Amino acid sequence: MSHHHPSVDVIVVGAGMAGLVCAERLRGRGREVLLLEARDQVGGRTAGIEVDGETVDLGGQFIGPGQDRIYALAAELGVPVFPTYTAGANVLETETGRLRRFRGMVPRLGPLALLDVARAQSRLDRLARTVDAEAPWRGQDAADGQTLQSWIDRTLRTSGGRRFLVLACRAIWACEPSELSLLHALFYVKSAGSLAAVTDFEGGAQQDRLEGGAYGVATRLAERLGASIRLNAPVQRIEQNDSGVVVTAKDGTSWRARHVVVAVPPPLAARIAFHPPLPAARDDLPMGSVIKYVTGYPAPFWRQAGLSGSALCMRGPIAMTVDSSPRSGRRGVLIAFVNGAPARDLAARSPEDRRGILLDALGHLFGPQAATPASFVERNWNKEAFTRGAYSALFPPGAWTRLGAAWRAPAGRIHWAGSETSPRWYGYIDGAVRSGEAAADAVAARLS
Ligand SMILES: Cc1cc2nc3c(=O)[nH]c(=O)nc-3n(C[C@H](O)[C@H](O)[C@H](O)COP(=O)(O)OP(=O)(O)OC[C@H]3O[C@@H](n4cnc5c(N)ncnc54)[C@H](O)[C@@H]3O)c2cc1C
Repeated sequence: MSHHHPSVDVIVVGAGMAGLVCAERLRGRGREVLLLEARDQVGGRTAGIEVDGETVDLGGQFIGPGQDRIYALAAELGVPVFPTYTAGANVLETETGRLRRFRGMVPRLGPLALLDVARAQSRLDRLARTVDAEAPWRGQDAADGQTLQSWIDRTLRTSGGRRFLVLACRAIWACEPSELSLLHALFYVKSAGSLAAVTDFEGGAQQDRLEGGAYGVATRLAERLGASIRLNAPVQRIEQNDSGVVVTAKDGTSWRARHVVVAVPPPLAARIAFHPPLPAARDDLPMGSVIKYVTGYPAPFWRQAGLSGSALCMRGPIAMTVDSSPRSGRRGVLIAFVNGAPARDLAARSPEDRRGILLDALGHLFGPQAATPASFVERNWNKEAFTRGAYSALFPPGAWTRLGAAWRAPAGRIHWAGSETSPRWYGYIDGAVRSGEAAADAVAARLS
């Protein structure tokens, strides 16, 4: 191993929330840190753009009770939190395109379908309680051997109930129920606490927003780290031996450190060449499929019509919408998610077609004003070379059992962070924060 590389205590790969938190925590403890980021900006799956002078989140944005670490981080950085707008009626679009208003989380399906869904929800909660979030594969062969789809087929008795669960799966995991194991669904629920914690606005993971966006939290952390961050530095190779690691970026630049924390999504970690090689169990995991749309209006006009701006759509291509207007309510912002198979279908269309399809769908849900926004932004997360899908990695049948012990365990001097390595709030911003803190603590302990 060459000794000509500049040397630091710890290199962190990936400046998403996990990598930023990890690097900042190590720096706070007097460690010399280098944070290498592939993109020309920090934040990863929290990304933002300026629309009419306000930061709009193109990635993760909601936080809720139980996500203590992101609330603590926001407080420490002086970022205020405010409630997601939920007053008024939600809209359900049926498969035939009919619109029904409803309040709360479960729309007015037929009475039998409603009963069916309620039973399925309590069963999922009950099964989730049997999962050990620290070691989800333990004692869960049956749940790991089947997809969520096969569980839905066996468990639900009404076609309306089954179709609603497909929509719920798209909304929660951004995939089809055939793409993840039952065990992964149960683990995810366990890691959040309950199904209600996952699905709800008030009392659940969508309860609050961050002023200036989640992206604003990332940029504030980046300001603290200053020159410790190198942008445009995609890491391609990590070598380790008994004395340290050498991390090499795409342009051939190498850096030496005593330890490295890899804080990138699983498919990106699998693309790094490790020497010596890592356990094969760490090979690729698929991600969900999400296109997020942000449309801006002079005012949140739907509120006057008694609507919350939240919609659940069984017809598609939109899975759901949420009011994402600034706290002041001066302007109106709707976000719409096209998830799972509909995201892949829509991505195959031309940009003009996609825009037309989206605006038609919004117009149908909220009236003609919704179809003529002042601004229109699209972010297809599957096309992002350094994310490759969202919201998070999906474990297909057998993957938890196979990955098992290699999931979070350091491989020598290589440590893992990122939302996908968190037993609590897996896949969420809060999980990313927790993973960054845990990795920093583990490395700090090894260094001292
Ligand atoms: C549309 C969308 C909506 C979401 N909604 C919510 C929500 O409302 N609430 C919530 O809590 N969560 C939400 N999430 C999920 C949440 O955003 C993520 O779980 C979290 O931000 C992940 O952070 P991370 O640091 O683990 O990973 P990432 O944010 O993916 O960060 C990884 C970083 O590593 C970089 N990188 C990749 N490869 C390399 C390489 N080879 N070398 C160097 N750098 C590399 C990437 O560019 C990126 O900056 C959403 C995500 C999306 C996309």
